[in-house]
Amino acid sequence: MGHTRSISGRGGGRMKQIPIRRLLKRADAVFSAWIRARDRRCVTCGATGKLQCSHLIRRGKHSVRFSEVNCHTQCSSCNWKHNYFPEKYTSWFLSTHGELAYLTLVKDAMKLKSWKRYELESIVEKYKLPSRRLITPPAQVRPSRRWKANVVRR
Ligand SMILES: [Zn+2]
Repeated sequence: MGHTRSISGRGGGRMKQIPIRRLLKRADAVFSAWIRARDRRCVTCGATGKLQCSHLIRRGKHSVRFSEVNCHTQCSSCNWKHNYFPEKYTSWFLSTHGELAYLTLVKDAMKLKSWKRYELESIVEKYKLPSRRLITPPAQVRPSRRWKANVVRR
């Protein structure tokens, strides 16, 4: 993952040239960072370390892969446990968002979806954190004190 070239590709090329599987991974990464920045802690245990973007309904269900309702921050341990004990995360969801949100989500997850290139590109654009450029400054520029302050805040 490098600097600012990661989105536009090498040599200033457009995103079109990135293979769609890589674009999907890129969208996953950007969306994951956005979810973690939104929640800041594991929603089920409160941990603040080893945070991941956890899909209540597995991300193989593409229609809810980039759903802000389906995704929340969990620590790696809770995310792992979700594989064999989904009830914990599910009950957290139900008590936080309610039954209607859950039923709607399940219904959405049953829809078939395959992401088009332009849709993935707009997901990357939409969820790209504004602070990203500050986190990875161009190699030539030495980080200033102001830049460091921003990093600490994030
Ligand atoms: Zn946790």
